[in-house]
Amino acid sequence: MAKRPVVDEEKCTGCGTCEAIAEGCFQLNEETEKAMVKDPCTSSEDEIQEAIDTCPEEAISWA
Ligand code: SF4
Repeated sequence: MAKRPVVDEEKCTGCGTCEAIAEGCFQLNEETEKAMVKDPCTSSEDEIQEAIDTCPEEAISWA
């Protein structure tokens, strides 16, 4: 099974950067205003890694 990322909702500020970089995998939850991981998560590992590296709150990591 492909690697999956997880979002730490305590850290996430809902800035939307991860969704802009890897929209196949991340989506802002309109209720919580936090990012969530889509299922299925269809972004490439490189895109997900870029989102992890770019998240200003370091809220994303590999599961
Ligand atoms: S980039 Fe980080 S802080 Fe911004 S919405 Fe995604 S997980 Fe949250």
